[in-house]
Amino acid sequence: MTKLLELDGVSRTYSSRSGLFGAPIPVRAVDGVSLSVAPGRTLGIVGESGCGKSTTGRLALGLERPDAGSVRFAGAPMPAPGTAAWRRQRARMQLVFQDPLGALDRRLPIARQIAEPLVVHGIGNRAEREARVAALLADVGLPAELGRRHPHELSGGQRQRAVLARALATNPSLLVCDEPISALDVSIQAQVVNMLADLQAERGIALIFISHDLKVVRQVSHEVAVMYLGRVVEQGDPDEIFAEPAHPYSRALVSAVPSVGPRRIERIVLKGDPPNPADRPSGCAFHPRCPLATAQCRAESPALRPLVDGRLVACHLAATRRLVA
Ligand code: SF4
Repeated sequence: MTKLLELDGVSRTYSSRSGLFGAPIPVRAVDGVSLSVAPGRTLGIVGESGCGKSTTGRLALGLERPDAGSVRFAGAPMPAPGTAAWRRQRARMQLVFQDPLGALDRRLPIARQIAEPLVVHGIGNRAEREARVAALLADVGLPAELGRRHPHELSGGQRQRAVLARALATNPSLLVCDEPISALDVSIQAQVVNMLADLQAERGIALIFISHDLKVVRQVSHEVAVMYLGRVVEQGDPDEIFAEPAHPYSRALVSAVPSVGPRRIERIVLKGDPPNPADRPSGCAFHPRCPLATAQCRAESPALRPLVDGRLVACHLAATRRLVA
């Protein structure tokens, strides 16, 4: 299947200081990540907070430049941020934020904010833009009169629909949805997820769905990547991963949500918090929390390798299938 977006070995390092006068410390937020997504498909990215999933989304959109590796969109390298070519490309890819109230300008009516990307990219005249905004409101199930209201006059679900309408204004081929439903009531979450699925089916949009909610990720994704401390540790078909997680970290995540897998997996409570990315553990970064860690794990970093079923796993023990109950 032709890929729309391809990340090949991308890394991103930030500089952090310990204290006001401390020396800068490099913090590798994303480390050698290779992922791709095809038109009409959804790539789910899961992992604890700070695992690098949001930075991966920003690298995918070209909002950040990788220090190493490459990002290709529609077969071409991502242009440098801020250039005219980058702005043209950005019209084809949009970000949907976690907090719809924070993503909208409280002072402006909704319709004006939905029209904003059209103005920025010089699409249509005023009448055409108004017609487009009306169509977008209908597409996301909002009545036309809501366009005259301000964000605080809408419910949380309506605001997220308005954010989606704005993201769809330029007819993007790729949407990166970063925790798009976590700020919504449970009753509204299903509506927004179903709407995203319908829009994807109608328009063939590729989606990157970043979330800590495994149930939703399983429901919407065609492929899943599990991230830990900036790296992908398991990647493959969501049904296979959630039914039979091969990496101990994926297994712990799935065990915390019993309804995700068809079989009951005994709850695995991980020791401690994820390590500080500025002080990455030796060998497998997961070893201080892993119940199966060996001396090899403390010394050697496992590569992401295919299992017999084609799934990719970064664990020294995965090939032996000892991790599968
Ligand atoms: Fe655990 Fe070792 Fe596998 Fe890392 S490589 S996940 S420490 S068993």
